[in-house]
Amino acid sequence: MNTGRIATLFPFSDRSRALQAAVARFVAERIVPAEAAFHAHAADPAVRWTIPPLLESLKAEAKAQGLWNLFLPDPTHGAGLSNLDYAPIAELTGRSLFAPEIFNCSAPDTGNMEVLLHFATPEQRAPWLPRLLAGEIRSAFAMTEPDVASSDATNIALPIVRDGDEFVINGRKWWTTGGGDPRCELLIVMGVTDPDGPAHRRQSMVLVPMATPGVRVVRPLTVFGYDDAPNGHVEIEFTDVRVPVANLLRDSGSGFEIAQARLGPGRIHHCMRLIGLAQRALEAIVERARTREAFGRPLGGHGMAQEAIARSRCEIEQARLLTLQAAAALDAHGNKGAKDLIGMIKIVAPRMACDVIDRAMQIHGGGGLSQDHFLAQAYAGARSLRLADGPDEVHLAALARSMLKG
Ligand SMILES: Cc1cc2nc3c(=O)[nH]c(=O)nc-3n(C[C@H](O)[C@H](O)[C@H](O)COP(=O)(O)OP(=O)(O)OC[C@H]3O[C@@H](n4cnc5c(N)ncnc54)[C@H](O)[C@@H]3O)c2cc1C
Repeated sequence: MNTGRIATLFPFSDRSRALQAAVARFVAERIVPAEAAFHAHAADPAVRWTIPPLLESLKAEAKAQGLWNLFLPDPTHGAGLSNLDYAPIAELTGRSLFAPEIFNCSAPDTGNMEVLLHFATPEQRAPWLPRLLAGEIRSAFAMTEPDVASSDATNIALPIVRDGDEFVINGRKWWTTGGGDPRCELLIVMGVTDPDGPAHRRQSMVLVPMATPGVRVVRPLTVFGYDDAPNGHVEIEFTDVRVPVANLLRDSGSGFEIAQARLGPGRIHHCMRLIGLAQRALEAIVERARTREAFGRPLGGHGMAQEAIARSRCEIEQARLLTLQAAAALDAHGNKGAKDLIGMIKIVAPRMACDVIDRAMQIHGGGGLSQDHFLAQAYAGARSLRLADGPDEVHLAALARSMLKG
């Protein structure tokens, strides 16, 4: 990203600019060259659900350089950057699938750490937050259920039933990202505690240690064949799972409110990362158009390749500006005030990334769909984000309703 030019519209702090330069260097020099080793690890059936040692050593390097927890605006626990200052950094980490975790800035831990910080008591935080902030363990967020349309959070049905000083949980969740990771020790689970309450006060969130008896990972799900080992997106069965009532976050019935609060910054981070991914795909298009020849000239000499390049650049820049605007609005007006802009980028960025990556796959010919390029897996990730954190249609409907209300 040309931050000098963008900075005339969005004033990044000196600290953000210095971090952008350091993260850009780290991604290009340390992470992208390691991608082949990570893919080789994931392709080996004997070890693919274990953590590559190289990942942990790169984490240690990033941490030693102060490139750690940059997502967290809280200055005591995190880097204390505004959303606007963090946005171009998140864009850079989006260039590689592996980068967000190496900087301890990956979903779903980022959202879970924010939930623990804002909604948990000191006693609830103590076993988890310091270790998540240190990158020692991972966590997952279990809201979506196979049996109900989970894009409507009021449908979430998993019963969380009080029995004395404990809650008893029975049911099934799926698409729990990170639940297959051997380091995943904590689930934040959303379910029904107040079935007779008003629609938005029926659900709550509870902390469920992964090691609790009755928690069983049923299977990893795949997106176009990718299971994203060793993190995974898993289906989980809860059978008579008992946790103390002290594990309830905030108060009974506040699940919907916590879910809303969790998703504001999370959506901006996802969108910025998608812009970084699309930018890398555009760079791959340009490189290919310069170097490959067909029908007597470089692909870049053909009008259709030129259109792919020009359209991609326009669309990336539009999405980037909109996302920075949403980040600035979130800093100035909070989640509620920035709601429409956050909805807009969630509608725009995943589609834009899919379109750009699709053009990149096309110009790479058959190879573009294969394991020889980052593009196919990148497309699967970008396509997922037209559903994860709420499908396009839900955001379109909410945005339209907001405008119709005036
Ligand atoms: C890779 C990946 C990772 C994920 N990670 C997590 C995770 O970590 N934790 C978690 O809890 N969930 C996760 N999810 C789940 C995701 O958030 C849900 O899939 C999403 O919210 C949609 O819920 P659903 O699948 O139940 O679809 P449904 O709610 O059944 O919706 C299906 C379709 O109905 C249509 N629709 C819905 N509402 C409307 C409307 N108002 N107007 C018009 N059409 C509408 C849309 O086309 C929508 O896609 C993940 C999903 C994926 C693919």
